[in-house]
Amino acid sequence: MRESRYNVWVRRPDAAYVFNSRSGAMLRIPAEHHKAYHAFMAGDTGAPCPPSLLANLIAGLMIVRDDADELQSLAKRYHASRNTTRNFALTVVTSLGCNFSCPYCFEEKHPSLLDGDVEAHILKVLDAQLPHIDSFHVTWFGGEPLVGKKSLLRLSDAFIRRCDEAGVHYDASIVTNGYLLDEATCRELATRRVTSVQVGIDGPPAVHNQMRPLSNGRGSFHTILTNLRMAVDQLNVTVRVNIDGGNASRVEELFQLLAKEGFGGKLTVYPGQIVGVQQNVRAPSASYRGGCFSKAEFAHEERRFLDLAAQYGLAKPRLPSPTGAPCTAVRVNELVVGSRGELYKCWDSVGDQNEVIGDIRDHASPNGRLAKWLSYDPFQNEECRGCIALPVCMGGCAHHAFDKLLHENRCGTFRHTFQEQVSRFVDFAEQERLSGLMSIAALSRTVETAEAPELPTEPFRATV
Ligand code: SF4
Ligand code: SF4
Repeated sequence: MRESRYNVWVRRPDAAYVFNSRSGAMLRIPAEHHKAYHAFMAGDTGAPCPPSLLANLIAGLMIVRDDADELQSLAKRYHASRNTTRNFALTVVTSLGCNFSCPYCFEEKHPSLLDGDVEAHILKVLDAQLPHIDSFHVTWFGGEPLVGKKSLLRLSDAFIRRCDEAGVHYDASIVTNGYLLDEATCRELATRRVTSVQVGIDGPPAVHNQMRPLSNGRGSFHTILTNLRMAVDQLNVTVRVNIDGGNASRVEELFQLLAKEGFGGKLTVYPGQIVGVQQNVRAPSASYRGGCFSKAEFAHEERRFLDLAAQYGLAKPRLPSPTGAPCTAVRVNELVVGSRGELYKCWDSVGDQNEVIGDIRDHASPNGRLAKWLSYDPFQNEECRGCIALPVCMGGCAHHAFDKLLHENRCGTFRHTFQEQVSRFVDFAEQERLSGLMSIAALSRTVETAEAPELPTEPFRATV
């Protein structure tokens, strides 16, 4: 047996902790057992290493058979999740028009709403899927999806009715600027099985109003805050704070304000990286001149952000979960439907005519652009193959990987700050007195694609 290449160790006076990024599990090993474990792994057959410790290390994929091919197991996981047709997911742009005018927006917007013809074709596509799938997930997206609320509600009712009749699990999430998320809308979304809501706030009022103004130039902060007071009682709300060099130092002012308003423990905040995407020259982001962070810089800003947010009860320590194919863009049975019925693979492509891969009215005949997304394969890339973050990142953002200028930006932050991230989680585990084999995913979010442990073919050599 040998140690997994995906172990991250943290040592403390009383114990050692090992996190395995492939299983998403962490194990606390008391200091005396840790010493025995090292002797045992060094080949000292007389070392008294408890069998239960070895069993946990195997269950957590922290030790594997000498001939185990961990990369191949991950590749299997990636391709299985990419190619599965048991789950179907759509990102639906109900309105490409938006009531905001954010200077870093990557979309070339126009005021078009999803119409009845596109709705009918979406339902036709779903009907064809229903006999073959276990679950259907929708992300309501824009522009601003609540500008197209009528369509969202109509489609939701039709989705729920069809899925319930077919015995298919249905749920949805929404990415919204929060301005139209009033009390009645929260209720309507909750009854339409929208289980999570992402709202953007980019700092305290003065900062936010500059970065996320209404399209008439006026501020949006206070309306969003009023809406959030009601939203948190009905929906699971996450606030995304987009940061760059211009506002990162101001986030604590936002946390103070949210904590004073009583949002601690009721919503969570996380940082988003503002990226100067140049690809679509007609999108605002192409001329955005903020001081965007590189991914490595952002990874360190993220640490600072989350540590501060935790102090205000607005974030909980967590580690990334093992994943398969990481997003809609690279999964076979997922599509992004634009407001005019045009199809894309990637969220960042919405509104870009050069990235359209087909049309919902003839969705079975995509154009040649689809192939680049479905052939993206991190296992062909030497950097990914040798990366400790591979099991939780799986090649990250394909859209950025394709862009020469943004290539490094494809990575998840675990690549840059894995030691700090695990160490911070150990602080939390010590505080909470967690011990034994902990499923970090169970403590943070669900593992969709955990692999079975590779059990040894020979009995343990350990003595009690
Ligand atoms: S490729 Fe990147 S930008 Fe596109 S949907 Fe995936 S993660 Fe998002
Ligand atoms: S962090 Fe970067 S190098 Fe590592 S797996 Fe993800 S995309 Fe590849």
